[in-house]
Amino acid sequence: MIELDRGAALEAIAVEVRACTNCRLHETRTLAVPGEGSPETEVVFVGEGPGYNEDRQGRPFVGRAGALLERFLTTLGWQREDVFITNIVKCRPPDNRDPEPDEVAACAPYLRRQLEILDPALVVTLGRHSLGRFMPGERISGAHGTVRPVDPTTGAANALAFALYHPAAALRAPEIERTSYQDVARIPAALLQARARREAATTAAPAPASAAENVVTAAIPADAPEMRDLPEVPVAPDAAIDAAPHLALVATSEAAAADDQLTLF
Ligand code: URA
Ligand code: SF4
Repeated sequence: MIELDRGAALEAIAVEVRACTNCRLHETRTLAVPGEGSPETEVVFVGEGPGYNEDRQGRPFVGRAGALLERFLTTLGWQREDVFITNIVKCRPPDNRDPEPDEVAACAPYLRRQLEILDPALVVTLGRHSLGRFMPGERISGAHGTVRPVDPTTGAANALAFALYHPAAALRAPEIERTSYQDVARIPAALLQARARREAATTAAPAPASAAENVVTAAIPADAPEMRDLPEVPVAPDAAIDAAPHLALVATSEAAAADDQLTLF
């Protein structure tokens, strides 16, 4: 899809989300928060749901957690316009309570369709609820800073998920904030790994039809060495991080386009 098509398709979803009444969260929201960012990005960040500021502005991660997320991106030489940022539920749960399972289920088709359009290489999960979608059965305490193949039924057909603590948790606990900076430093290596995996999948023979849970591995050639251990192996040995300090995304903002750091892509 060319950028214009993707942007238009994403905006069409945003229009639906802003008018959505498919779960009770529409009754208490001020504005729905569809998500925003570059239609051409390789990296999608998925949080839990809008908070107070997001609900007022209709934009994701614009409060204190958002400021920390932007600081994380800055350490990679990225800006929020370079990635896509959205949430599991698009409307604010009252008093910032956890979203209920039926609300998460009602909202799931929007994120699935966004991911189908974006076709990211890397989905960065922010917190437990997002982790639950992209790394089912994992605990944040063990999964943070590591990758897993993403189930294509999420909408991300050929992606790795990379888990982070929620920035709001980092704001509450300095130890989690420190750990989060270390985890974020592994994102470039995870993206390189995700690119290599996509490359392998597109050069492989078409996978035979198979059960949904096997689709990811079925699309990978049996002799692709770095793939075999992928589910168990944490990414980013320090050498890989050093090798990719200025890993570039497709730059969409003017400032980013002017930045030599981002011409590496
Ligand atoms: N927390 C989230 O999970 N999402 C937002 O958009 C803001 C805060
Ligand atoms: Fe619709 Fe999702 Fe908002 Fe519920 S949370 S009203 S499903 S957009």
